[in-house]
Amino acid sequence: MPHPFCVMDATSDELRAFLAGLGESGYRARQLLGWLYARGARRFAEMTDLPRALRERLEAEAAIDWFPVARHQVAADGTEKFLFVLEDGVQVEGVLIPDGGRLTACISTQAGCPLDCAFCLTGILGFQRNLRAWEIVGQVLAARATLGSGERITHIVYMGMGEPLANYAATVKSLRILTDPRAFGFSPRRITVSTVGLVGGIERLAKEDLKVNLAISLHATSNEIRDRIMPVNKGFAIEELLEACRRFPVAFRQRITFEYVLLEGVNDAPEDARRLVRLLKGIRAKINLIPFNDWEGSGFQRPALHRIVGFQDLLLEHGIRATVRWSKGEDIGAACGQLKETVEV
Ligand code: SAH
Repeated sequence: MPHPFCVMDATSDELRAFLAGLGESGYRARQLLGWLYARGARRFAEMTDLPRALRERLEAEAAIDWFPVARHQVAADGTEKFLFVLEDGVQVEGVLIPDGGRLTACISTQAGCPLDCAFCLTGILGFQRNLRAWEIVGQVLAARATLGSGERITHIVYMGMGEPLANYAATVKSLRILTDPRAFGFSPRRITVSTVGLVGGIERLAKEDLKVNLAISLHATSNEIRDRIMPVNKGFAIEELLEACRRFPVAFRQRITFEYVLLEGVNDAPEDARRLVRLLKGIRAKINLIPFNDWEGSGFQRPALHRIVGFQDLLLEHGIRATVRWSKGEDIGAACGQLKETVEV
């Protein structure tokens, strides 16, 4: 038997082409997409306004991929963490973060991570595999399916497990599915892709015309320190990375986010803040300071509160937008850098 066509892993054009191959019209493609993304249908049998013959044909020749939420935890602050077990048993995590009127879905692009950032638990645990596009989109759909009426996801950040630009093709395909008005139809301005700074990937992404936001995990202001805490820097020096950022098309009124994890005694000195100001000259930037979230055996520490606030003040004094991102969901291991696949479910 030929492999079934995976409808969730298809862009709207691919789906249209598949249906055309079955002799079906673009209208049927639109109906099918509506069922999959607007209504979150999981079976062709549910699609009652498709002719029965087409539903049966789809049952035979196509498949709707879906994975269940294997575990759903809610933190004291309302942050929710989802554990997804994929077909081959691989586990990934996604997080829903409520914040005022916002509800942000934080999704993973890889199971584990191939990079070795010294302060990140996900990286320390190693890399398993790339996710496919539908496995990235599916995290948003599965999280959405748990929401009550009146609740909706307002933002999506590619800041879960893995490095989006190290899984480039699937990441871009998932962004197309999420932003395509004929598919999931989410505003690209409310989507942020975060990267350690793979320069080639940033340059390719710049040309995709996706209009999504970019976030850079910078975390250091000298190559010496960045090499030490983010080995990926040895391949792409800070200057080269910032050049790629300068060339990245930033949408009207948007800015590139620079994430900066504050590690006591490593990158939290006033001199670092001043260097950061100099480095970001000429870039429409905003800075997200992330006080380090500890994990057992990390060897790093979160700076004292006055150091964190002092660092932020120095940036603000120089006219740089800087917020402190007090991570959410720490009590359930959902905070930045704490995502890891769990062995037992
Ligand atoms: N690989 C991409 C996507 C992950 S985003 C990237 O690095 O940008 C997750 C963010 O959390 C990154 O900025 C990462 O550096 C940060 N982070 C990792 N470990 C952390 C920790 N222990 N405390 C605070 N932030 C951490």
